[in-house]
Amino acid sequence: MLLLLPLFAACQPRATGTAITNVTLIDAVNGIRPNQNVVFDGDQITAVTSSDTAPDAQRIIDGTGKFLIPGLWDFHVHLTYDDNFIESMPALFLSYGITSVRDTGGLMHKMLPVVEKMRSQDAVAPRVFFAGPLLDGEFVVYDGVSRPEIGVRNSTPGEARATIKELAAQGVDFIKIYEMVSPAVFDAMVETANELGLPIDSHVPLSMRARVAGPSVDSIEHLRNIEMDCAGNAAELHEARLALLENPDGMPGAELRSSLHSLQRMPAIDSYDEEQCDQTLAALESTMQVPTLRLGAFSLAPPYRRDDWEAALLRIPPTVREDWQAAAVEMAEAPVQEFIDFGEWAMFLTGRMHARGIPIGAGTDTPILLSVPGYSLHSELEYLVRAGLSPIEALGSATIRPAEFFALQDDMGTIDPGKKADLVLLDASPLRDIANSRKISGVVTKGVFYDRDALMALVDAS
Ligand SMILES: [Zn+2]
Repeated sequence: MLLLLPLFAACQPRATGTAITNVTLIDAVNGIRPNQNVVFDGDQITAVTSSDTAPDAQRIIDGTGKFLIPGLWDFHVHLTYDDNFIESMPALFLSYGITSVRDTGGLMHKMLPVVEKMRSQDAVAPRVFFAGPLLDGEFVVYDGVSRPEIGVRNSTPGEARATIKELAAQGVDFIKIYEMVSPAVFDAMVETANELGLPIDSHVPLSMRARVAGPSVDSIEHLRNIEMDCAGNAAELHEARLALLENPDGMPGAELRSSLHSLQRMPAIDSYDEEQCDQTLAALESTMQVPTLRLGAFSLAPPYRRDDWEAALLRIPPTVREDWQAAAVEMAEAPVQEFIDFGEWAMFLTGRMHARGIPIGAGTDTPILLSVPGYSLHSELEYLVRAGLSPIEALGSATIRPAEFFALQDDMGTIDPGKKADLVLLDASPLRDIANSRKISGVVTKGVFYDRDALMALVDAS
């Protein structure tokens, strides 16, 4: 050992990492830190120091005048919803600074190859966390008839347990409970997921009240069916739903669900009762809400009204582009008052939830309803700010909140030594205007830096 010492001293290892220097760091936990150097090596941030000292790194990226935020999450995506998007989605996400995604529904035979590819060595793709199929009840909404097949039937508690055990064996990261499950099936799903240590994502089942189902799950999507629990006559609406869920006319799942939504959603909003709603929100205190406002409040700020929409469309597959352009023309010509009313409700409820300290996650449901993968997450951030979050809180909903859902807050979600090397370099401060989250100068994904041109090349090649 003694003999080796002089040799060791002579061979001081050369620095191997990359440093982004003299940059302003912004994250939802540490706040704002100007004049910093951030060094990352491999897939890890190794140092965060004042820019007064020279960084120990092989490669230097000058961050002067720029802003560095943690890599963003889209917390609600469907990688396999549209076959036209399967190949291009990973690069699209990265080009917009989305370095992690949570897939909230897809059949396993389609999901597994996509996940395997995204997780393979040297894959240029966001980190991916997936649920597998929507776990539906006796009647299935996404049954492949009137809608894409991404749901599976769980008629009994026994069936539900078996399904979840099988999914766990196949490696899902969490489960997604859907809208048509019975209370008994819901309870079996919660119990099984808890036994297996799987986080639970959910829609509020139509057979249950939000205040009853909510506390058992870790996140709820789209504010779905919460309006029914905020109505003055919430108990009555629930009774009526239970009767209709018997489905005497034998409707298909999608039709049955739509009929219940149209029967109760807007009337419930009209019968909003603050005291009732306070009780609901109290029960949801520690259940992350993923309001997907860019979907639910789409009509308030449709993407086709944005200046950067055409440029975003140029990044997506041509067949999809043509369909979406036509759909946008149709929607612009015939605005639907009910959608506007629901959008306003969704904004109001999100604001109230946030004011009460309910954690909010940023998800888009891409590619559903003209949602360009990656692009639409920035719209979601704008919606969240409009609903009452501060810009740094909105960033938190796309960084630390998603990490917390998976108990990964020690690994991701802030800019600190020891965290994963997922970062987004911005040309302007997102705290000055959250829309500046779109002004991407470069992205670090799994420790590799891509400047703007390299990101565009990734999209072109996909
Ligand atoms: Zn979805």
